Amino acid sequence: MRKDIKALEQQVEQALATPEYQDHPLHQVLAQLWEYNQDHWSRVEQLIRVSDSYQDMILQREKTLGERFDKHLRQLEKITRISDRYQTSLREANLELEQASYVDALTGLPNRRKMLRRLKMEFDTRPEIISLAMIDVDFFKRINDEHGHLVGDEVLIAIGQLIDRQVGEMGHIARWGGEEFLVVFAQEDTSQVSKCLQQLIDAIAQETFEGYDGRSVKTSISIGLSRFKSGDTIDTLITRADDALYRAKHAGRNQVIAI
Ligand code: GH3
Ligand code: MG
Ligand code: MG
Repeated sequence: MRKDIKALEQQVEQALATPEYQDHPLHQVLAQLWEYNQDHWSRVEQLIRVSDSYQDMILQREKTLGERFDKHLRQLEKITRISDRYQTSLREANLELEQASYVDALTGLPNRRKMLRRLKMEFDTRPEIISLAMIDVDFFKRINDEHGHLVGDEVLIAIGQLIDRQVGEMGHIARWGGEEFLVVFAQEDTSQVSKCLQQLIDAIAQETFEGYDGRSVKTSISIGLSRFKSGDTIDTLITRADDALYRAKHAGRNQVIAI
């Protein structure tokens, strides 16, 4: 189309330049139309130039925006990765803390908190087969006085390990506090529990503990045993084990008394 117009324009230009057409009545009209046409095309070309540069500008802007978006996306991905790693290590740290909160720092045995959890679990499952053994080291203060606190600690650790080994699969031990250990048994056959505890008392009495100073220490334990009775709660079971322990101490120590 534009090609046809070019040819036509050439013809008009030639006609306007031809001397014998100068006085033709339509010459002036054609000259004005020609001028108008030239004006028109220059306006169209100007418009095209403006539109082209506008499109360039938009393209450039889209490119810049795209690059900025990509950069932000990469930064976001990096932050997400860091945050994921942070959350994982936080979860692991929490887990470690939670596990540590159930362990006694000196003996490495489950602590009172853990024991209370276990007691609740056993109580919610089969309370009627629960037996509780409150174990207290006899005259432990003397060991500290005669051998020092560090040897006292060593003896406590060794006694804890010995009880843990002796009780084995039959029950669960915890350091209840100070020089006291609590063992919970979930055993229908209570005579097995009594037998286990008597063996434990004998084993401790026969054991000779070696302190870091090379001196040997002899000791014994007393045990109060409570067995589930109808109407018992965890608290009443513990209180009865404590009462039984008190009686075992007053009956001469180095023995188990059950109520
Ligand atoms: P009893 O036969 O009546 O139980 O006498 P005991 O001396 O064992 O009783 P008492 O409760 O008077 O003493 C307990 C001692 O245990 C007192 C305390 O200093 C000591 N003890 C408690 N915890 C620890 C510990 O972690 N390490 C050491 N070395 N001693 C402890
Ligand atoms: Mg004691
Ligand atoms: Mg005590």
